[in-house]
Amino acid sequence: MRIDVIPAGGNYYRANLHCHTTVSDGKHTPEEIKEHYKKHGYAVVAYTDHRNMVDHSDLNDPAFLALTGYEMDFTEGPSDLPYKFRKTCHVNLISPEPHAAHREDPAGYSPKLVNDYIKWGHEQGFLVHYNHPEWSCEDQNDYDLYEGFDAMEIYNHGCYVGGWHEENAIVYERMLKKHGRLFTLATDDNHGDHDMCGGYVMIKAPELSYGAIFNALKEGHYYASWGASLDEAFIEDGVFHVTAPAAREIAFTTGIRHAHRVIAPEGGNLTHAEFQIDPADVFVKAEVVDHAGRRAYTNAWFL
Ligand SMILES: [Zn+2]
Ligand SMILES: [Zn+2]
Repeated sequence: MRIDVIPAGGNYYRANLHCHTTVSDGKHTPEEIKEHYKKHGYAVVAYTDHRNMVDHSDLNDPAFLALTGYEMDFTEGPSDLPYKFRKTCHVNLISPEPHAAHREDPAGYSPKLVNDYIKWGHEQGFLVHYNHPEWSCEDQNDYDLYEGFDAMEIYNHGCYVGGWHEENAIVYERMLKKHGRLFTLATDDNHGDHDMCGGYVMIKAPELSYGAIFNALKEGHYYASWGASLDEAFIEDGVFHVTAPAAREIAFTTGIRHAHRVIAPEGGNLTHAEFQIDPADVFVKAEVVDHAGRRAYTNAWFL
């Protein structure tokens, strides 16, 4: 029997799921963002301005879809410490429909506040994403306590180009072991010119409609990337297969001490790798590394 970790049918749609515009502290208008991303092969942008949720479906056309969302923040304080010393937790919410209007903006910073917010978000039908843990100065003591996120950012381009180690593959592993089912995203979190078109997800969906794209995000029908490409990821007869157009390495992890990395011979090219699943494996997921060292990640598939 074959299980498609990424659906075999449908089309891939390139998406930036974390984006700031002149609606909050971004440099570009929503229209300029659409124009730039479309020119670079994107079909979807989630507009996630800080604490401001605006329906941009007036920008939609047959090849472009605007998702409605916003970014909520929880920050330590009040305190005499400058902002740069205070921990914060940033959360993106993606609305189940373009026109959803209800929001809550509690103030403060605690695991309970964040967890209550995740719960409230789910009650409204939102997808709730955990953003840039490194930039936020949060660590395992913090994210161990968060419950119910739909996905976390394995890569945040804005933070990465700003100098942070915002390539969070290890954080994703730790969150999976602690919390179980969780998807993973690469995003831009763009505010200006220097941080656009770096991190994205490739969504597999039957069509470019709000419902189909939201459902694909909800079901984890996508992979995250900051440059590397992936074609298929499926399980057949106890073997996990990954295909890619041109990889240097393909690596597998499982939640236990069982992993594998296939490396192309010097000057060679990988287009397929397979991995024998062990009955004790908790999940399987793969990472594809291209010849420039850039990475793509499947979501973890729980066995
Ligand atoms: Zn943020
Ligand atoms: Zn942001």
